[in-house]
Amino acid sequence: MSTNKLLENLNYEELIDLKNKLVDGEIEKLIKIKLEKFKNTNKVCPVCNTPIGEGGLTLIFGSADFKRKAEFDAVDCLEYFISKIRK
Ligand SMILES: [Zn+2]
Repeated sequence: MSTNKLLENLNYEELIDLKNKLVDGEIEKLIKIKLEKFKNTNKVCPVCNTPIGEGGLTLIFGSADFKRKAEFDAVDCLEYFISKIRK
């Protein structure tokens, strides 16, 4: 869907809401989150670069307003990662 089409489908209240969110940077934040999800489609373990299959382990960490997600192929990689972020 093009941006124009997307905007055409919005009613008055939704457009005002969108405009307000653009002004306070909310949309940018939402787009960044969405982009992060695309990055995760090619899942590779950040520790050993092995492609992660169905049995991957997911770690969600970070502060309440900025949660990050990492996926690992095995427990030892997850442990290594935790030991690194602990420092
Ligand atoms: Zn690994």
